[in-house]
Amino acid sequence: MFAALQNGLIVSCQATGDEPLNRPEYLAALARCAEIGGAVAIRTEGLEKIRALKTAVKLPIIGLIKGTFTDGAVLITPDFSDLEEMIAAGADIIALDATDRQRPNGWHGFDFLRAVKQRYRIPILADIATHAEGVTAAELGAEAVATTMSGYTPATAGRQDEEPDYALIASLHRAVSVPVIAEGRIWEAQQAQRALAAGAFAVCVGSAITRPQLITHMISGPNQLSPRQSHEVIVVGGGVAGICAAASAARLGARTLLVERYGFLGGMSTAGMVTPFMKFWIETEDGRRQPLVGGLFEELTQRMAAIGGMIENGFSALAFKRVATEMLIEAGVELRLHALMLGAHVEDRTVRSVLLQHNGAPQPHSAAVFIDTSGDGELLLHAGAPWRKGDEQTGLLQAMTMFFRMGGIDLEAAVAHVAAHPEQFFAWSTKEYHHERIVAIAGYYDIIRQARQRGLLPEAVEYFFFTSLPAYGEAAFNTTNILGLDGSSSFDLTAAEIEGRRQVFNIANLLRARAPGFERSYLIETGVQVGVRETRRAVGDYAVTGEDVMGARKFPDRIARGCYGVDVHGQKGEKSRMEHLQPGQYYEIPLGAIIVQDWENLLVAGRCLSATRAGHAALRIQATSAAVGEAAGALAALARPHGGRVRQVAPALLQAHLSKAGNI
Ligand SMILES: Cc1cc2nc3c(=O)[nH]c(=O)nc-3n(C[C@H](O)[C@H](O)[C@H](O)COP(=O)(O)OP(=O)(O)OC[C@H]3O[C@@H](n4cnc5c(N)ncnc54)[C@H](O)[C@@H]3O)c2cc1C
Repeated sequence: MFAALQNGLIVSCQATGDEPLNRPEYLAALARCAEIGGAVAIRTEGLEKIRALKTAVKLPIIGLIKGTFTDGAVLITPDFSDLEEMIAAGADIIALDATDRQRPNGWHGFDFLRAVKQRYRIPILADIATHAEGVTAAELGAEAVATTMSGYTPATAGRQDEEPDYALIASLHRAVSVPVIAEGRIWEAQQAQRALAAGAFAVCVGSAITRPQLITHMISGPNQLSPRQSHEVIVVGGGVAGICAAASAARLGARTLLVERYGFLGGMSTAGMVTPFMKFWIETEDGRRQPLVGGLFEELTQRMAAIGGMIENGFSALAFKRVATEMLIEAGVELRLHALMLGAHVEDRTVRSVLLQHNGAPQPHSAAVFIDTSGDGELLLHAGAPWRKGDEQTGLLQAMTMFFRMGGIDLEAAVAHVAAHPEQFFAWSTKEYHHERIVAIAGYYDIIRQARQRGLLPEAVEYFFFTSLPAYGEAAFNTTNILGLDGSSSFDLTAAEIEGRRQVFNIANLLRARAPGFERSYLIETGVQVGVRETRRAVGDYAVTGEDVMGARKFPDRIARGCYGVDVHGQKGEKSRMEHLQPGQYYEIPLGAIIVQDWENLLVAGRCLSATRAGHAALRIQATSAAVGEAAGALAALARPHGGRVRQVAPALLQAHLSKAGNI
């Protein structure tokens, strides 16, 4: 049966769900076209379609029936009864999953294949993902093996990229005597030729021939886009969440564009000058720090440390900008700085393109999946997707803060002052100076009280808080407090910038005049923009709550972890709230928090993720934003074979990737 297929093209005629061609007669017509065009066999799914295609063409029919594994992943030909029905329907060859996984019918993949070979005489095409699986399938008697599952099983999730798996084709060709069929991610004739050259016996192509909607979108997309303006993933916003989302998608092979309105990356981490990473580790019983976030965040911190840009969890914004830029360029992300996203084109709750202002008139850019990491839900807003803002009852938003950086501080003297006057400081303030350790000090109550009496500080400023930076004598101050304004309104932001800078100069002068260790200090700079803690957050498939956080809740569809508690910087008329988890406890963030409810291809991460206000107050910190961003990028890349429909990606596939990264 297979001999006639050598060096030929097998065309996969399949359509699922509400795809317009999902009718037996339409697929039969496509199979006829393939036959006329020179196909040597047809692969199709479902009994009705096998029957229809069998009468439409004279070519051998490779039949399969799709089921699911318990984790939701696609399972090709689930049970014996499916084989029997396909044989009765006229299939000439049966395709079945021969990956190293347990089937829902209780059989392991290899045992099932062995039993099938004992019970039936029909030729079997074993769909495998790895070299070992191909070898085993051939040993168990499969007449041919196909690389169909490479990149689509938990064990191979990280391997999925744009290209067919040539390495697997070549290694199997050397190891097995049965035909190796190249299947998966073949879109061009050159790729098919390269697969044959690598040792494929025949090549199987599906979407590139039989899914006109994908072909149309690829070539043109909406608004007659040129290829340069068409990507697979577009990430809006280059803060820590967007950086990790874009790098993650690109490393999985997706053509990724990252759009950022400033001339540098980092968002709040750099423009906002938020330069300590809040806690992302738990202490083990033997006193070690066990990080909850690995992956791209870990790489970012290690690379910053390597260039002297970190002191424990404190970092230099300059180092952040440099390393983040390098990581994105290395990953192959197309970086578009100084570009503002200012509109979206939407059809049926699917984002088709975004409008980017970067070179004259705004131009549309299309993609299969879009990720909103703008911090302020800018894409949610422009697309008309659901979002919430502020407290559920009062509508209040957290206070804003203008960060600033000072130099020339005698840190040893500042720490000695804390040790001598602990009543003036938060209990956790640093009391012993070590050159290689971060200094974190909050308090100076008397200085503040007296300054308020003299009208030098508003009531809103309750304490001065700073953390030291890698450059000796420098520190970043998270101290100003700006109330009553909304960080998603340019009117309010203008007022916040003015008020923030006014407070900065007063605070720096007070410290220099009154605080030991600050005698020779000087103000270096403020943030490029005022720090905004919360504005719009998405309404997703799931909203993480404050109870989930404080109850250290775990989720089966986890995509990230965190241990930072609920931290609400109180607004006018609202008390601040800082709650910590018990030592050693952590919570998980579920997949539903990054998928926008009822939308097909719109994801969120970082400050935009789906949570209640209290949940958001914990998840917004940088390490968690990075981990959630990495998950969103991976999900977007994995959704490419599904036309960008993110819910069709098996959670286990995404989790296998994230677990390898050390994020779950
Ligand atoms: C005052 C303050 C103190 C904080 N303290 C800490 C702390 O000590 N430790 C900690 O870990 N976290 C802290 N956080 C939280 C943390 O800094 C942020 O929540 C986190 O950095 C958010 O990352 P993000 O990527 O989601 O968003 P952002 O960093 O806000 O990034 C969004 C990016 O999108 C870009 N953008 C927005 N709209 C558009 C558009 N239309 N077109 C193109 N680009 C656009 C922006 O320019 C920005 O670069 C603090 C936050 C604030 C404000």
